[in-house]
Amino acid sequence: MIPAASPALQPAPAAAPPADAHAFPPAGWQRAWREAVRDPRELLAMLGLDGLASTLSDEAASAFPLRVPRGFVARMRHGDPADPLLRQVLPVLDEARIVPGFALDAVGDGAARAARGVIRKYRGRALLVATGACAVHCRYCFRRHFPYAEETAAADGWRDAVAAIAADPAIDEVILSGGDPLALATAKLAELTDALAAIPHLRRLRIHSRLPVVLPERVDAPLLAWLRALPWPVAIVAHANHANEFDAGVDAALGELRGTGATLLNQAVLLRGVNDSVEALAALSTRAFDAGVLPYYLHQLDRVAGTAHFEVADARARELHAALAARLSGYLVPRLVREVPGDSGKRPL
Ligand SMILES: *Cc1c(COP(=O)(O)O)cnc(C)c1O
Ligand code: SF4
Repeated sequence: MIPAASPALQPAPAAAPPADAHAFPPAGWQRAWREAVRDPRELLAMLGLDGLASTLSDEAASAFPLRVPRGFVARMRHGDPADPLLRQVLPVLDEARIVPGFALDAVGDGAARAARGVIRKYRGRALLVATGACAVHCRYCFRRHFPYAEETAAADGWRDAVAAIAADPAIDEVILSGGDPLALATAKLAELTDALAAIPHLRRLRIHSRLPVVLPERVDAPLLAWLRALPWPVAIVAHANHANEFDAGVDAALGELRGTGATLLNQAVLLRGVNDSVEALAALSTRAFDAGVLPYYLHQLDRVAGTAHFEVADARARELHAALAARLSGYLVPRLVREVPGDSGKRPL
């Protein structure tokens, strides 16, 4: 979920949430995590789509394995080869196409690195690459190309990260990103926030996570207790790309997160064949709001090798965004942006 401009800092897509001494016996969510579907053919069989096997890419699947929680699979439409949730996770032959402009190695951003797992790129904000693990592997994600880097902020008990933040009074917001920061055990997260609580210049904590939507089991009592006890206002940015990603379990998880006082926002990526219509984008905004989540950003795709089949041209993106603005209340219209390597923020389109 961190910007594509920081390849040197990309963590490994771990197969399981990081082991943690405090997490014994394993919480329910960790079991749901481990039971994720990892075999593309099994996924197709579950959906009655065995016929799609000829579109699978074993090469793509071995470079960046399929991973999708069973609860997320349950929200896919049975028998629909164009299902927008399936398309986000299925490793397909399209990924092997070489397309000019789609780089294996995006422009480096090493200068923004402030400490182990800390990116100091956005003004006033420190972004922590908390962990490399994700509960779902999204085919459009730049992370697919950086499976071996392991520099995460949690790796050394957060020491480097906390020291870097403490040393810079200009930082008033800490952003937990990844990978997926909620892949860490709650005790591990508490270890960080206990240390951060002593830093007087921090005003806000932000968490970017796909877990409340793809694995709502993660929103359990210890997580909620941790959030409630934090000394700062908290923003949680969900990463849902389609209205169908929401169901009653997700609504309940998001409602509980909101009950802690956190502000819930959504950041989506504009993806061809997933959400590139006014209807899909409007449904995403209104469905997210029904669940207590305010639309925040609609991102143009990072131009990463293997993702060209997801790209929506800028002109079409602007047209969709204008149509969305004409249709919805202003607060339901996300900002259309692109991440530009080297910039100190997102660039509006
Ligand atoms: C864009 C982005 C940020 C920071 O930018 P804001 O404009 O403050 O939201 C942080 N984390 C992630 C994952 C982002 O995509
Ligand atoms: S959850 Fe998906 S989009 Fe986010 S970092 Fe992991 S693979 Fe990428």
